[in-house]
Formats: sequence, structure tokens, C-alpha cells
Amino acid sequence: MELDLARVSVRFPGASQPAVEDVSLGLGAGQIGVLIGPSGCGKTTLLRAVAGLEAVATGHIALGGRVVSEVGVHVPPEQRRIGLVFQDYALFPHLNVGENVAFGLHGLPAAERRARVQEVLALVGLDGLQRRYPHELSGGQQQRVALARALAPQPRLLLLDEPFSNLDVDLRERLAHELRAILKAAAITALFVTHDQLEAFAIGDVIGVMYQGRLHQWDDAYMLYHRPATRFVAEFIGHGVFVPARIRQAGDDVVVDTPLGPLHSPQECPLPSAYPDGRCEILLRADDIVHDDASPVKAQIVRKAFRGAEFLYTLRLASGETVLAHVPSHHDHDVGEWIGIRNAMDHLVTFARGAAAGAAPAPPARPQPAAAVAAVA
Ligand code: ADP
Ligand code: MG
Repeated sequence: MELDLARVSVRFPGASQPAVEDVSLGLGAGQIGVLIGPSGCGKTTLLRAVAGLEAVATGHIALGGRVVSEVGVHVPPEQRRIGLVFQDYALFPHLNVGENVAFGLHGLPAAERRARVQEVLALVGLDGLQRRYPHELSGGQQQRVALARALAPQPRLLLLDEPFSNLDVDLRERLAHELRAILKAAAITALFVTHDQLEAFAIGDVIGVMYQGRLHQWDDAYMLYHRPATRFVAEFIGHGVFVPARIRQAGDDVVVDTPLGPLHSPQECPLPSAYPDGRCEILLRADDIVHDDASPVKAQIVRKAFRGAEFLYTLRLASGETVLAHVPSHHDHDVGEWIGIRNAMDHLVTFARGAAAGAAPAPPARPQPAAAVAAVA
């Protein structure tokens, strides 16, 4: 592992809770990790601890196999070979682009420095802008200069803290894809902080979801979405909603009664005994619900938002729960109308009723006997 955190906590003097608590994660060389979570959950503090700007209260941080932070050990930031890019790009206004990028290269002979500046400016797509001054550049270009400046000294790890949050939304998504391409071309290991899911998915190989100082899951986007480790992750990623359900045995079948009608032996269903009387909550996301005029289950449109190819409908079920559904935009129904809906879930994620944010879903039961027999045969 190029970056390795084991049970890291960071505590600020006088605070009742650690700002970062018991966080473990690893990044292989060339991997891009993203930390995502609501404001105040500890993302910046964790990044600052990796940079050596905060000391750890427990655990250790290792870079390239060497421990740089631990109780009693603190390698200073300038000896960690870490590049930093922050939200306010902090370019020197009186230096031109080339001089800004060359800033961290004072140890190099002039010719090598010039070559390296050209190389990184080409990498970030700013060829030929060497002599411009920061105020002559767009926000996106300025942020690319900051990125080039951080990459120039060939850090072993790049840390980026919400670098796009001052830029407008359209630009952000494009830059996110560009940034990923640049980091991959530079083959650099990077840890990127954001509170924006689209950005996280566009950039990260691995994504960590943080809440109240804790890392709830460190996984790829698919796993976060389909196999959330905690209730918080389920709710945060993809805006899930929870509806009450009941799991029951019906002969050889397991049936899950939901406000959208019964589900018969859904994939990854826990046994009824996982919850008191089988009563639980299931995760429903907008893509789990399909509009179907023929369906006996009806829901009333509370709100609708046009998303180009589809509408995002907010629907109220007869039972009172509110769910979200993506519906192709040629189905243009009015707010207040009742429409038919069907459950199109491909696998089930269940939680105890009223479970806390840190609660894990019940594990799925073992394969049904029939499936097990078929697999053996
Ligand atoms: P995020 O970057 O996810 O928004 P931060 O890491 O900035 O969160 O903050 C995590 C928690 O630590 C917050 O409760 C914040 O108030 C607290 N905190 C951050 N920096 C300091 C500091 N220098 N002194 C005391 N508390 C701090
Ligand atoms: Mg922050």
C-alpha cells in the first residue's frame, strides 16, 4: 500500500468527540481514493492528518510502507513528499503561470525546471499559457495551474480538498473527468475530498463514505450503491428512502410484504428470523420503482423534476410513505395524479426498523435449498 491508515483518530483540544475516529483505509500506488460525506464529518481533518498538519491521537499513517504519524512519531509535512490542492487555489497573483508552477522546484537547475514546468503544463492542458497571469485565466484554468504546481515536484501522494467547490456545476463535472484522466496519466496516488456524489463517482477508484468522524465504508461505487455497509451509506449514496416491510415464510418461499406489493423470494433476502416478527425496513431507490399503467399498485405524484431523458417523480404511496421514481419523460403526468407503479428491485437491502445510522443491514440468508441442489447437480 502506498498510503495506509490504521485505526486513526484525531482529536482537537476541548472537543467532546474526536473529529476523526478509528479510520482505516489503504490506497495502492496509482489509485485514486475519494472521501465523501456531509459537511463537518471530518474529511478535511483526515486529509490534514495525512499531510502532517494534524497529529494523530491513535493509530498510524504510513506512506510507502514507512510510518509518518503515530503517537510519538510525527514526520513534518515538508518531508512527506505530498502535494496539496485546496478549494481556494492560492496562486501567487504577481507570478505568471510558469513561475507559479516552478515555485516548488527551487532545488532544480534552471533548464530542468523549465522542462518540468512545460511537462506538467502540457499534462494539465495549459500548453502555451506560461506567461499569463492568474487574473487572466478562468476559474477552471486557475485550478489546473494549482494542480500543475502540486504535481511539479513529483509528490508520492496528492491530496485534494474540494478543489472544485468554487466553480459552477457544469464546469465541475467536466473537470472531474479531466482530473481523473490527468491523475491517471501522471500515475499518481491521490486522495480527493468532496461532498458531491457525481464528482466522487467520476473520479474515484475507491470511495469512502464518512459520517461523524467515522469511515462507514471504503469500497468501489458499485458496492456503495448496491451493498451499503450501513444505513447511513444506504441513505446518503443515491438518495435512498426506507419503507417498512415484513419478511415471512410462505411454504418454501420467502415473501416480503412491502407498500409496493409482495416480493417473492427476492435475491439476497434475509430469513424472517433476522428481525423481530420479520418486521424491517427496506431500501428503495428511484431506479427500483418502475411506472407501469397496468400495475394494481398506485401512487400519487407529489412533485416532479425534469431530468432530460426522464422525470424524477416524488410519489406518495397509499400507505403514506414517500418514494422516488425515475420515469421516462414521455410519461408526462401531472402533480396530484395517481399512477401505476411496480417494484423492480433486483436485490433487497434491509435494516431493522428505526436502525441507527451506523447499523449494518442483516446479512442475506444462505441460498435457498432448491438453488443449492441445482448448484451441486
Ligand atoms: P469536513 O471537512 O468533513 O467538513 P472537518 O474535518 O473540517 O469536516 O471538521 C470535522 C470536525 O472537526 C468538525 O466538527 C469541526 O468543527 C472540527 N474541527 C475542524 N478543525 C478544527 C480545529 N482546528 N479545532 C477544533 N475543531 C475543529
Ligand atoms: Mg472540509
